Amino acid sequence: MNKFPRSAYIHIPFCHRRCFYCDFAVIPLGNKIESSQGYGSKTIKEYLHFLYKEILSIKHKSPLSTIYIGGGTPSILCPQQIKDLIILFKENYGLDYGAEITMEVDPASFNQDDLYGFINAGINRFSLGAQSFNNQILQNAGRRHLREDVEKCCSWLKKTYDSGLIKSWSLDLIQNLPLSGFREWQEDLKKTVNFSPPHISIYDLNIENGTVFKKLIALGKLQLPSDDDAFRNSESTNFILKGSGYSRYEISNYCLPGHQSRHNRVYWTGLGWWSFGQGSTSSPWGEKFTRPRISKEYKKWVINQCENSLDSSLVNKGFLYRELDEKIMLGMRLREGVDIYKLFEEQKWEKKEFEINLRSLLKEWEMYLESGLLVRNGNRFLLSDPKGMELSNQILISMFKWWDKIN
Ligand code: SF4
Repeated sequence: MNKFPRSAYIHIPFCHRRCFYCDFAVIPLGNKIESSQGYGSKTIKEYLHFLYKEILSIKHKSPLSTIYIGGGTPSILCPQQIKDLIILFKENYGLDYGAEITMEVDPASFNQDDLYGFINAGINRFSLGAQSFNNQILQNAGRRHLREDVEKCCSWLKKTYDSGLIKSWSLDLIQNLPLSGFREWQEDLKKTVNFSPPHISIYDLNIENGTVFKKLIALGKLQLPSDDDAFRNSESTNFILKGSGYSRYEISNYCLPGHQSRHNRVYWTGLGWWSFGQGSTSSPWGEKFTRPRISKEYKKWVINQCENSLDSSLVNKGFLYRELDEKIMLGMRLREGVDIYKLFEEQKWEKKEFEINLRSLLKEWEMYLESGLLVRNGNRFLLSDPKGMELSNQILISMFKWWDKIN
């Protein structure tokens, strides 16, 4: 039971250009962006105006313990614009002592002065979208930055972390990008651990509709790592990162002790969160709501929110509602897995129904338990690492089938 969301996500949709694998809600502004004065500044200022309005429109404001500024490319904003955003939350919602305030940064769009400016604005955790250290792989994925940019950013972040100016930082990589064979991936991982980021996110490449990669695949012009290579890549991720002291606390996330992302845990553990900005999804009271992805529509929606009534998903319902299948799916992503008995109890089923449903779920999972993909620890069920985590989809699909059957 969670009465008030304690976390907020803020979407900054601007990017220089769209990367070849990306289908996010972004506004490509070209290469010569200047967020406060030059080209692009009008679009950015106008967006911030509506974003502020949306942030202020919420009636049930309560102090936040995590803020995550993501995108897009938030580091296109200047430090003063980031500072203004944080002040807006501080003055209107309040910030808990020790709140985690994360900002995504892109190696091609910030320098060391900006970094100190962002820290001065209140950011205490950074997430660096490195994706790879290999120039050919980066160019082939449509990224603007080069290995040298990633290395520079890593040393600045490491320096600020080592000197206690920030609480943590994360380095994000994409696994199985085109040209990233076993050797290239191992190189990426080794370079990553050399900078000892306290947190590492490893996302698997997904081919999304409408992207350049999708078109190239249709034309037979994109060569992705083979299934064997992809499996070997995953194995080496586990081997290299665990050998370097990292633990896999979620399917795509590794960290050194004490550096789990507090904000992301909110999504996975089923707590509520606010979200602001074009195309972003919030779930303050359990029901999810995604804002329009197109600027004109988003602005219209904000005006409507302010002048008329808030969307029903944004109004305090006093309880957090989430379907059982979603709770299991999210919980299973985490190393600790889920306490099935506890989740079943929350369903308020009669004893007989409880037992029948439990038996049928265990039947679905029998073969995964026998093959060791799934582990039972008392009432708790968790994916084994690495095998269960790699094949989590199969286990989750069987759970969704079970859920459909009993409903
Ligand atoms: S920088 Fe990130 S958000 Fe922007 S287009 Fe590239 S992948 Fe998408």
